[in-house]
Amino acid sequence: MDKSVIKEIGPSKVIQLFFPVSNFHAIVVVDNTALGPSIGGVRVCQDVTIEEVKRLARTMTMKNSVAGLPHGGGKAGIIADPRDPKKEHYFRIFSQAIKDLYEYIPGPDMGSNEECMAWIHDEIGRVAGLPEEIGGLPLDKLGATGFGLAECAEIACPYANIELKGARVAIQGFGSVGKAAAKFLSDKGSIVVAASDTKGSICNPDGLDIKELLDVKKEKGSVIHYKKGTVKKCEELFSTPCDILIPAATPDVISKENVEGVKAKLIIQGANIPITKEAEEILHKKGILSVPDFIANAGGVIMAAMEYAKKSEKEAFDAISERIKKNTKLILEKTFKEKTLPRQAAEAIAKERVLKAMAYRRVL
Ligand code: NAD
Repeated sequence: MDKSVIKEIGPSKVIQLFFPVSNFHAIVVVDNTALGPSIGGVRVCQDVTIEEVKRLARTMTMKNSVAGLPHGGGKAGIIADPRDPKKEHYFRIFSQAIKDLYEYIPGPDMGSNEECMAWIHDEIGRVAGLPEEIGGLPLDKLGATGFGLAECAEIACPYANIELKGARVAIQGFGSVGKAAAKFLSDKGSIVVAASDTKGSICNPDGLDIKELLDVKKEKGSVIHYKKGTVKKCEELFSTPCDILIPAATPDVISKENVEGVKAKLIIQGANIPITKEAEEILHKKGILSVPDFIANAGGVIMAAMEYAKKSEKEAFDAISERIKKNTKLILEKTFKEKTLPRQAAEAIAKERVLKAMAYRRVL
């Protein structure tokens, strides 16, 4: 058979786990394993759907491929409130249910953290993103993804005619990713002018003090309690006058409904699939550069894969910096040379590696 005809890369497995007696419902998607066992986070969210998990698993295939990791893409969603007191119980049920699904290695995602990964470890051992005490590189505590976003911004800024030092940044979502991005970008001299969480946005064109903002978020639970700024609605963050916009919360937050209000020159996609396809096309036409999720936010999975391969914290940070900088440059060069969308350039590079690996697979 001529393997060059391979067009579809996945998903290879879409599984629903349903235990009505325990009120437990979860979804697992293994998208592609040509490059190795799939790795991807476990999202805990009340409205996560099969479609969303499929899209997120594909993003992981692309992300792991471009990042040069020996892993395919997968993802899981547990349909529950992340604050549910039965969360540990759900994770233990989930672990047992995926015990023999060797082609999927779970990691942390929205609504799950290192503690949840420790529960999976205790049940089945096969997991990444563990707490330090049991040999993990705590990627959220270390800010792996936010660090990668800042490294990505450093390379992307000149392509958007921005200087990173002094650039004004707006961040949607002040969780693990958003907080670390704020810290690492302010270390590089950028000025965070707005940040948001589910309660609202806090804005100050002169800049927010990141250390104070982190303390306020920790002590009072929301950025809106920060005193030296104006409180606005969540949605207003997207139209903040700024140079760099970082969506770092949920999917599809920039769509054709609000894309015209975006004033940034550069978007670094911290969240997975934060911009709809239509909105990405509109941004491109408006000359707003948008670095796709699976290039920009690969820091977390690179660290998770490094932990799984028993590498040190320093080796993990070096790998994040080197790979994200190299890939950002590679896709932006291709984007400008071929006058294409950054996502198309990135997908072409990621898919080529997956297809080459798939060609070595046995034809059944
Ligand atoms: P998190 O749960 O720690 O933080 C999410 C933050 O977003 C919270 O502060 C929450 O209040 C806020 N938020 C939710 N809805 C919002 C809204 N409508 N408006 C404003 N803020 C809102 O999650 P996280 O780990 O920081 O992940 C954020 C995103 O980044 C997710 O899409 C995740 O898939 C993606 N991601 C995370 C990692 C990682 O290493 N944690 C790696 C790659 C991608």
